[in-house]
Amino acid sequence: MNETGKPKHFIRQIIEKDIESNKNEGRVITRFPPEPNGYLHIGHAKSICLNFGMAEEYNGKCFMRFDDTNPDKENEEYVQSILSSVRWLGFDWEDRLTHASDYFDQLYEFAIQLIKKGKAYVCSLPADEIKKYRGTLIEPGKNSPYRNRSVEENLDLFERMQKGEFEAGTHVLRAKIDMASPNINLRDPVIYRILKVPHLNAGDKWNVYPLYDYTHCLSDMIEKITHSLCTLEFEDHRPLYDWVLDTLETPCHPQQIEFSRLSLNYTITSKRKLNQLVENGVVSGWDDPRMPTLMGMRRRGYSPESIRDFAERVGVTKKENYIEMSLLETCVREDLDRKAPRAMVVLKPLKVVIENFPDDRVEELEAPCHPGNPEMGNRSFSFSKTIYIERDDFMEDPPKKFFRLAPGKEVRLRYAYIIKCDEVIKDDKTGEILELRCSYDPDTKSGTGTSTKKVKGVIHWMSEIGSARAEVRLYDRLFTKARPDAGGADFVKTLNPDSIETIEDAIIEPGLTNAGPEDRFQFERLGYFYVDPVDSKDGKLVFNRTVTLRDSWAKIEKAEMSGK
Ligand code: ATP
Ligand code: MG
Repeated sequence: MNETGKPKHFIRQIIEKDIESNKNEGRVITRFPPEPNGYLHIGHAKSICLNFGMAEEYNGKCFMRFDDTNPDKENEEYVQSILSSVRWLGFDWEDRLTHASDYFDQLYEFAIQLIKKGKAYVCSLPADEIKKYRGTLIEPGKNSPYRNRSVEENLDLFERMQKGEFEAGTHVLRAKIDMASPNINLRDPVIYRILKVPHLNAGDKWNVYPLYDYTHCLSDMIEKITHSLCTLEFEDHRPLYDWVLDTLETPCHPQQIEFSRLSLNYTITSKRKLNQLVENGVVSGWDDPRMPTLMGMRRRGYSPESIRDFAERVGVTKKENYIEMSLLETCVREDLDRKAPRAMVVLKPLKVVIENFPDDRVEELEAPCHPGNPEMGNRSFSFSKTIYIERDDFMEDPPKKFFRLAPGKEVRLRYAYIIKCDEVIKDDKTGEILELRCSYDPDTKSGTGTSTKKVKGVIHWMSEIGSARAEVRLYDRLFTKARPDAGGADFVKTLNPDSIETIEDAIIEPGLTNAGPEDRFQFERLGYFYVDPVDSKDGKLVFNRTVTLRDSWAKIEKAEMSGK
């Protein structure tokens, strides 16, 4: 543990050792380097919190760098959503917003240096031949017939590639390393390719674009990154990262450190696959509240604090593992429990007429906004002859342990009175329960009543008079399988057809009509809810259920295990 009570994971240990030995003059400089080819997801949150978090903790700096080397997959909408998500999580890059493309000129110069050193060559094999020549994990590769081109010829061809004289796919620039290396990444990797498309940031200046591995280490070097934190799949690329910097004898050499990706049960963390859901209209967009994107979670009502807490709790290791969804939801619940004012809302109403309550009387009742925080004040709502309770809180023929309302039984209406069910009114034809006739006990008023009567059940309710209406959206998991894409499975087949339930006319406390953007509530007994920032407009109010009050994942997982 360190002074802030956070676990000293292996990256904290490395950084502290480096500071102690005055490596990099004690500086800590990190970067978060997304490719703008989609919206950020919960996996990225781990990387953001780690990179920005380490810089924050050790008095360092973190660059927000777009790794924009694939002009045909990137767009401005993605750029803006990424910036917005990082800011929302609470991090600030100050003046350190950069792009790999800011360095295209320098990268081009470095490529020329490599050619001049005899460490890069233009290869004119077609892509499938390059692949064949590369060998396999058990067979070494073969040298390209173009490997021994002269420096002059390479310089000339590379320059003409950039000038646009050749078509895409006809030539590439490759690093000259070792076709027999056991590490395939070192078998003369391609570092530049011809791509005749304009670039979001660099315009139409370039006909050649650098590849990721080559770009990344040099961008890190240019920004003087000290600790280049990335996910484990780059471990095998580290020798190439180091080769480029060593071969160019750069003045600074960042240290690449790998950690395991965050994988979450019942979730997909791949921009490409999430894009498929958006493109196919399976969800309403990247910010659909069911999406594991940061924009989706934000719209659903997750707080940035809870995601930061989650990122800390999952830890940083080199071990691949899947995190339970319930951990994420616990972080959300714990944060919202502290902050969210309470309210009563009836989602699936059953009408209750209190026959011994005067026809035109309306009583104003009060309740605290938060049970643990009196400073949040009180809320008020009416009690009148006709009220609504949840359909589920009444059973005509209840089992023994049902402590809510049933014929002849009593229950307490939260913050109000004890009522007794005297009669059930049904539709003659269908048998559907239409309403209940009840009586109330005036001596049992919450807080001031003189009766000592005790009942086991307490239920929420809303009066017909004085209440308001809103749309409420309830969400279930998006996928029915814990590992929707395991082993290359078609994750679309595991989509949950019932992942959203819309209730158009929920009966809400009158005070909720003043709810604005960013407002979060606990609807008593129902969960935490958030005002939908997109669809709440023109007088329409929409609430998203962020999370239920109790953990329901254990049950879901058990059902999946037993094949239900
Ligand atoms: P995706 O497959 O979703 O596109 P990616 O790794 O290609 O993921 P990038 O935009 O390149 O996405 O990611 C930016 C940074 O976030 C990288 O440093 C990457 O290692 C990190 N990252 C991406 N996914 C995860 C994850 N699931 N857990 C932790 N870090 C992640
Ligand atoms: Mg990527």
